[in-house]
Amino acid sequence: MKFASIGSGSKGNCTVISNNSTSLLVDCGFSLKQTTARLERLNMNPQDIDAVLVTHEHDDHWSGVRALCMKYEIPIYLSAGTYRAVNDRCLGPINLVDTEVPFTIGGFKILGITVPHDALEPLQYVFETNSLRFGLLTDLGHLTPYIFEHYSCLDALFLEANHDELMLAEGMYPSFLKARISGNWGHLSNSQAIDFVNKIDHARLQHLVFGHISDRNNCRSVLKKLVNQTSGILGKVHYANYEYGSDWIEII
Ligand SMILES: [Zn+2]
Ligand SMILES: [Zn+2]
Repeated sequence: MKFASIGSGSKGNCTVISNNSTSLLVDCGFSLKQTTARLERLNMNPQDIDAVLVTHEHDDHWSGVRALCMKYEIPIYLSAGTYRAVNDRCLGPINLVDTEVPFTIGGFKILGITVPHDALEPLQYVFETNSLRFGLLTDLGHLTPYIFEHYSCLDALFLEANHDELMLAEGMYPSFLKARISGNWGHLSNSQAIDFVNKIDHARLQHLVFGHISDRNNCRSVLKKLVNQTSGILGKVHYANYEYGSDWIEII
């Protein structure tokens, strides 16, 4: 199994996950033109995508889904709440995902995990193929026992490190926005993310990718410094950004 981000941040997110037979996208917060160009960088075409899974209705995850899926007749997977929130009855083939009910697409077994975020019914996803497990976890305000349970024993993890607490507190955002971002239904801070990695069973973690990094309230060097100060993080650490995303990362 391999995965790559074609872009990650407050303005747009999209992740590609692929094995020998099936290629999936999670979210698409980019225009059709941008998505096509960004996929090309990974030697992929939109025609290669077998399904798009949506985490929630916020624009940075949803804005490009409709155009992509309508043009290339790609089936969409999303929760009933997200479907209600996007309020679009002309989306083509829709598959509703229930949290805690595993489903399969091609060679992937997938589980949708409920997360605390200010959307109607947000889900994050864990993918399994050939006994390898990859977890995607962004857009959540805090970590629940249920999340700990499902994100242990992964081979790779793409994890939100949205903001540095001090940079957010001292930054230019209005106080209501600061409260939203740092609140229980907002986004994970650098220290929450690192603390999470330390607490889950990460003995077999090969790759850890930090993503959804805010360009206003965080910076890679601050996060990197914190990661380097933390002992015991196993696996290779990567940082995905908005402009480039990441290279393909292979899990073996
Ligand atoms: Zn987001
Ligand atoms: Zn969101």
